[in-house]
Amino acid sequence: HLDFKFIKENVDLVATNCKNRFSNADPHKVAALYDAFVALKTQVDALRAERNENSNAMKGKLDADKRAALISRGQELKDQLAAVEERLSGVEASLQREGQRIPNLTHPQVPLGGEEHAAVLKEVGSQRQFPFPPKDHVTLAEALDLVDFESAAEVTGQKFYYLRNAGALLELALVNYAFNKVVSRGFTPIMTPDLVKASVLEKCGFQPRGAGTQIYAVEDSALCLTGTAEVPLGGVYMDRILAEEQLPIKMAAFGHCFRTEAGAAGMAGKGLYRVHQFSKVEMFVLATPDQSEALHAELINIEAEMFEELGLHFKVLDMPSGDLGAPAFRKYDVEAWMPGLQRYGEISSASNCTDYQSRRLNIRYRPAAAAADGAKPAGGKKGGSGGGKKGGAASGGKTEFVHTLNATACAVPRMIVAILENFQQEDGSVVVPAPLRPYLGGMEVIRPPA
Ligand code: AMP
Repeated sequence: HLDFKFIKENVDLVATNCKNRFSNADPHKVAALYDAFVALKTQVDALRAERNENSNAMKGKLDADKRAALISRGQELKDQLAAVEERLSGVEASLQREGQRIPNLTHPQVPLGGEEHAAVLKEVGSQRQFPFPPKDHVTLAEALDLVDFESAAEVTGQKFYYLRNAGALLELALVNYAFNKVVSRGFTPIMTPDLVKASVLEKCGFQPRGAGTQIYAVEDSALCLTGTAEVPLGGVYMDRILAEEQLPIKMAAFGHCFRTEAGAAGMAGKGLYRVHQFSKVEMFVLATPDQSEALHAELINIEAEMFEELGLHFKVLDMPSGDLGAPAFRKYDVEAWMPGLQRYGEISSASNCTDYQSRRLNIRYRPAAAAADGAKPAGGKKGGSGGGKKGGAASGGKTEFVHTLNATACAVPRMIVAILENFQQEDGSVVVPAPLRPYLGGMEVIRPPA
């Protein structure tokens, strides 16, 4: 359900946006394909109408000559139609393929350029000063027997890990803490499947195939290991028409994330910072276009509140156009100070994807006013009589695409890195942030094994 008409009518604006987003999609090509598609579609419709007329004309009593002429014309029309239909389906496939590559539009306040142009929206706390040389999380975690990279390397491979002892409990504590926080903010807690169809990944804006894909595919199957619970959550309301009163819908899921990290910088580094599998609590929101900007602010505020409660020093960044990927209209990242790594590292990300995903997932809502005007009450039959076609008054007024937003509540390994490195003590023990203690049976300090 891409808006090709919008692309055609605003082709220069869309081209500038592609350039700003470092995308090599070609809106001029899309506009030309759209013109070709419309022209061929008109031809097909005219030929079909003529064919119907021709076959209707054969219904009555006719003399032999007339019938023969109609039959021959019918054959001609059939051949012509088949040829034009074939061209139409070829052009339509190219139009879809090229159109899918066009990134979302960009919020006017987003800074232009690459990663280095990120704007700092907020800074909380300051770099902790240590009276001793701070260790990195790998040194700390190994001495505390919280991780086992060696077994993981043998059983699975590089960049996998076992969490052990307080490390294992810390994952559960972080997940519980994050879940309780988001549930207190009205999010429905959900456990999602980690395997999803490649088609759903694509509709969420991920590329499950091809060189450099970040996605692990399951052999002999249409399934992939998802890189984030955003995908199973995005799919929940796929092909649905919601009533405006149902929005916003706030969901939060625990899921395992699987990433090939093909081509990623930092893959060579040791430790938990960039791994192939990790646990994450993810927030996902469906909203009306009027609600989405305020909800984006709410998501980043929930994240910031948690990181502040945990005692981290962090920055909230408005990510620049070149770093948004295709789906996001605007993206806020949080980077926390990691004293062992001696740098800031991304711990979360909150995106407003406006209608980029909902057009692909086909998630719509019926505005309350339109529903009242229409024949059916709000929240009526799924799909409507027009198969979800826009503007069908008979199916209860016109529908609009929802906006989707996603945000990290807790990406476990990065939180463990930040906690170990920030709250380490000279003897190698680590102070547990107060909000996590209730989930760790009151444990205040993670100590080295005796
Ligand atoms: P994303 O879904 O790509 O926005 O990632 C969400 C969060 O997951 C990031 O902000 C990181 O904190 C974390 N993350 C992303 N990739 C990895 C990885 N390979 N290993 C560990 N954590 C990651």
